[in-house]
Amino acid sequence: MIPVRALALTLAVLAALAGCGKPGSPPVKGPQPEDLPVYQVDSAFRLPDSPTWEKAKRRGHLVVGAKEDQPYMGEKDPASGRYSGFDIEIAKMMSASLGFDPKTIEFKTIASANRETALQNGQIDYYVGTYTINDNRKKQVGFAGPYFMAGQSLLVRKDEKDIKGPEDLAGKKVCSAAGSTPYQRLQKEFPKAVLVAYDTYSVCVDNLLTYQVDAVSTDDSILLGYAAKVPEELKVVGEPFSEEPYGIGVPRSDNALRFALDDALEAQEKNGNWKKAYEATLGLSGEPAPTPPAIDRYPAS
Ligand code: GLU
Repeated sequence: MIPVRALALTLAVLAALAGCGKPGSPPVKGPQPEDLPVYQVDSAFRLPDSPTWEKAKRRGHLVVGAKEDQPYMGEKDPASGRYSGFDIEIAKMMSASLGFDPKTIEFKTIASANRETALQNGQIDYYVGTYTINDNRKKQVGFAGPYFMAGQSLLVRKDEKDIKGPEDLAGKKVCSAAGSTPYQRLQKEFPKAVLVAYDTYSVCVDNLLTYQVDAVSTDDSILLGYAAKVPEELKVVGEPFSEEPYGIGVPRSDNALRFALDDALEAQEKNGNWKKAYEATLGLSGEPAPTPPAIDRYPAS
């Protein structure tokens, strides 16, 4: 049974998360289109060594995997179907560098647990969605980047007093996404936490607001977005306790595409677009733009 107060609170909060606040209440500030950079399409670009690029060229546009429920990173507006956020801007700047008008990108929402399969079976050309580069995943997919460094953190209800860091999670119900690195880390390093897994973090947040779980754990970049939507109900606590370097996922054998995306990231960081895109999206959570991490152009395998 959910307590009545909790239920009323939850309904209000869910409405806020869905972007439909009470009449007269100010809308939650999301990315403003006029603040976003305009990416110059490199129409002369060709990449004949990349089967993924060649297939996209024949199709006429790119198909990009993303998240749709992570405020400031990758979020889909249910009314317009439009995606926005820092990851979406990265996807767009990559598209322009590869010679495709970013307006023509077909975004597909892919959950954390399904990213490798989506890339392996050609459902998407590349993936931009809080995707941590690690050796295990590198056996299945390729990664351009990193383009951002996040860290695992904890989201709790505003009135929570006991949980200040991962060492306080013993006996507590903690929610994370199936197939994610934060889930795996909790399992391995904090085995006394009672783990709950869902496909998406937004379902975890709903569970937190309805008192079904005590904390949500994933990257700080994701949690800050949820906390910013309902600051009177949620807070991020403690210091980040991992390093999560974000990469652009590509089919593993397509080294030409991976190197082209590394080049594109470097160019877009240099010309100021990366910083401008950050400031118009994730920067809204209050964190100033960091220096992007160095690109790791690992050899073709
Ligand atoms: N960056 C972590 C991961 O790639 C957590 C975020 C996510 O699930 O997308 O697993």
